[in-house]
Amino acid sequence: MDAEAARRYGFATKAGSTPLRIARTEGVWLYTDDGQQILDASGGAIVMNIGHGRREVAEAYAREAERAAYVLPPFATESRVRLVDRLIGSWLPRGLTRIAFTSGGSESVDAALRVARAHFFAKGETKRWKVIGRDLSYHGTTLATLAVGGHEKRRAAFEPWLADLPKAPACYCFRCPLGKTYPSCAVACADEVEAAILRAGPETVAAVIAEPIGGSTAGALVPPDEYWPKLAAICKRHGVLLIADEVMTGFGRTGKRMAVDHFGITPDMLIGGKGLTGGYAPMGGIFASEAVVAPIAERGQEVMFFTYSAHPASCAAADKVLEILEREHLVERAALMGERLGKRLARLLEHPNVGDVRGRGLLWAVELVADKATKTPFPIAAGLTAKVVAAGIANGIFVYPGGVDPARDVITLGPPFTISESEIELIGERLERAIVSAVARVA
Ligand code: PLP
Repeated sequence: MDAEAARRYGFATKAGSTPLRIARTEGVWLYTDDGQQILDASGGAIVMNIGHGRREVAEAYAREAERAAYVLPPFATESRVRLVDRLIGSWLPRGLTRIAFTSGGSESVDAALRVARAHFFAKGETKRWKVIGRDLSYHGTTLATLAVGGHEKRRAAFEPWLADLPKAPACYCFRCPLGKTYPSCAVACADEVEAAILRAGPETVAAVIAEPIGGSTAGALVPPDEYWPKLAAICKRHGVLLIADEVMTGFGRTGKRMAVDHFGITPDMLIGGKGLTGGYAPMGGIFASEAVVAPIAERGQEVMFFTYSAHPASCAAADKVLEILEREHLVERAALMGERLGKRLARLLEHPNVGDVRGRGLLWAVELVADKATKTPFPIAAGLTAKVVAAGIANGIFVYPGGVDPARDVITLGPPFTISESEIELIGERLERAIVSAVARVA
């Protein structure tokens, strides 16, 4: 396919970027229509938890589409009832029993922000509307979700439309924004969230939103163990709701059912997306405590649904995907294979331009730098990350580009949990070749 045709079909928007047409997908592999086999080391956008080509999910989806193609979102269907029971019984932190579904991650975060505001509005605390986010974060691409997020590149063109909401520094230990070092820092970045609440005026703050483990913005930022318990205590102290955005980390990706399970806390709201259906249907979810929803319900108020919220076939796909994760013990496998992937990626640190390798479970990132001693990034004009992705495809591997200054060049990895040891070895080999070749092109 020529570049013009690729642009027409929306496969590539940037001039000169590689058109890629996928004929079919299977396991951890993508097959292009010109016969190339590409290892999907990032499961698309860190989505494919159970891998590609699961016929039983497709069958569950088709059966439900035949039985109940569409119903108004407040109505229940059999597939939705099954999914809600499974989520409450086996997946969500205890106490998160109020569930709504959407068509994806951004819609879910957007709805959670509205639920947080509606909660205080219903309680008569009408001044509470601000939501504190963090730098180097991503919560979606609608205007509200961009506003609470800290992804400068994705926000840039839309700044005039974005509400000016307070931000706290990220847990980015590789280049600590506070110039501190763990553990002597005593997790001062959590104190900064409290400082932001105090500056904004606690009586005006509705919620704090954060990813328990960062996604691809700065690359798999794993906070110190004390961070989330501290954050939960701060929110409680100021009567602020804590929202954990687990669109990328939820449903086993980090080696536990939810990433907050690593830290032993239950947020007031948790948001899921990607892994909920493992890529088989567009769907997201908002999981809230009774206490969050009660004031809204008592007042007889509602939070408006999206037309495709709780779509029956999507519910059926999600239920089947979660059943497969349970039946095949894939969350445990994500933890095990994640350790192996981490060890293999750590070998890349021998390369002079691999500055950091970080992650947990099967969510990993490799940060590239021009100078390891000073952690100086490559110039923006070098476009190193894009070159690594292109070189990766040429070498038979797809890796997800990320990175926002100062974490400029970041590759995020998130393969299906079914990945084998030999495929992990291939990720290491092929990614290394892609990095070597991209750096050579920049030099
Ligand atoms: N929140 C987080 C943490 C994400 O990683 C993403 C997507 O990467 C989103 C929200 C937005 O989800 P979606 O792209 O499904 O709208």
